[in-house]
Amino acid sequence: MPSESYEIVPSLINGEWLSINKDKYTNVYNPAKGEIISKTPMCGNKELDKAVEAAEKAFVSWSSLPSNNRAQILFNYRSLLKDNLEEIAKIISTENGKTLAEAKGDIQRGFEVVEFACGISQLSKGESLAEVAPNIDATTIREPLGICAGISPFNFPAMVPMWMFPLAIACGNTFILKPSEKVPLTAVKLVKLFEKAGLPKGVLNLIHGGKEIVDGLCTHPKISAISFVGSSIVGHHVYSLASLNGKRVQAGGAAKNALLVMGDAEPDSTLRAIMSSSFGCAGQRCMAGSLLVGVGDVKESLKEKVSGAIDKLIVGDPIKNEKTEMGPVIDSNSQERISKIIEKVEKNGASLINDGRKLIDNDGYFIGPTLFDNVNPDMTVFSEEIFGPILSILNPKNLTEAIQWLNKLNYGNGATIFTTSGASAKEFRASIKCGMVGINVGVPAPMAMFPFSGWNESFYGDLHMQGSEGVMFYTRQKVILSRWDDSYKDKQGW
Ligand code: NAD
Repeated sequence: MPSESYEIVPSLINGEWLSINKDKYTNVYNPAKGEIISKTPMCGNKELDKAVEAAEKAFVSWSSLPSNNRAQILFNYRSLLKDNLEEIAKIISTENGKTLAEAKGDIQRGFEVVEFACGISQLSKGESLAEVAPNIDATTIREPLGICAGISPFNFPAMVPMWMFPLAIACGNTFILKPSEKVPLTAVKLVKLFEKAGLPKGVLNLIHGGKEIVDGLCTHPKISAISFVGSSIVGHHVYSLASLNGKRVQAGGAAKNALLVMGDAEPDSTLRAIMSSSFGCAGQRCMAGSLLVGVGDVKESLKEKVSGAIDKLIVGDPIKNEKTEMGPVIDSNSQERISKIIEKVEKNGASLINDGRKLIDNDGYFIGPTLFDNVNPDMTVFSEEIFGPILSILNPKNLTEAIQWLNKLNYGNGATIFTTSGASAKEFRASIKCGMVGINVGVPAPMAMFPFSGWNESFYGDLHMQGSEGVMFYTRQKVILSRWDDSYKDKQGW
């Protein structure tokens, strides 16, 4: 069916919801059925200029509003998100394919950023020191930057945009959100609820599109900061282009995360954590475990257990069957790409234990959970992100060798050790070169009060999203030095 017969995803510019007609659209699918549900307009500089104009105008009054008053709107937003949890989860599940439980987790993580941002008055307090020099006091205050923009990926339609706009707006900035063209409907709902919470027009604008609008945001002279999350190749492009144009940038990229299992690990909870980390959200998570490192003798029994658990995993349409444990991947391109990777990895010498390609003929974009054994650090499957439900087993002889292997990776999001030994955990924590470390935690994704701390090729910039780094990113400091010496007393006549 031609995409022209589907509803255009609306954009919000200056408080007005617009159905923008463009020459180009991207189809939005329900990936569990392979059916088109909507079409995203590929906006360009004309729409961007209007959004910037609205955000610039709104900045004057929004930035001068006391932080407590801004926080009141965030409190309202928090309640509305809670009241609409089921509806938002259904939208996420329909356009992204993750299960309803995963969709609720997606919202919950974003919701926690809103709760964090409600404390903006405390979070954005400055410092002061009296008598830094004779009769001189020093004070810092934090001020918003101006217009900030957010560019987000398809895999967390709620959480990732909410890492960005609630905190930026709480800090007194105005915002332009450009969500993934593949999952724009969640963003529409999130923005509508913020409007309902009492956000003045122009403070948050929503525009859709792809490369043209992203490049426009990165080069627009009136935009002060860019928050990006997506693949490393695009993240690096955004970081370079926006920095060159004088903007502050934080850009989260791709990942290759390891789950390292020691012989002394607690077996049942470790297996549950491996299954959920590797196959949750169909492996489309920047914190998904994709390398299973069975150290020494534990590898064989681990392989048996994971393979057996894969056979029992319920894969299907999450809306049709509430018991579904794993949904489809995002689209047919992704399904085809992952299927080709499975073929290549097997050709390159790894042993295919569970083959997810058997689901390819079903309706929708399914790839079942897949397990490879006999993977080594020289294979590309060791180092490249797949972003699908593929888990590769490695077998180093001891912890030292395991850490040496893992530290060859170019990415640096997460790595987890499963062990009951404090000494092993301490060695792992100290030696592993990545920004988010799990000890018996399958997905060590930090909560809103801590930074989402990617390293190496998983992050470009200095200040990460969330936590105090997020507040620092969305504000700049002014340092005020005041001199009040005795001569001023005489002027007052006391
Ligand atoms: P993507 O890089 O294809 O797209 C991300 C955003 O960039 C989208 O809004 C898209 O419209 C835009 N974009 C795409 N191509 C572009 C181009 N050539 N020029 C300018 N803009 C462009 O990423 P995706 O497929 O939507 O998401 C998956 C990726 O995101 C994975 O690599 C995953 O690891 C990563 N991710 C990282 C984190 C993190 O915190 N590090 C979190 C979630 C996802």
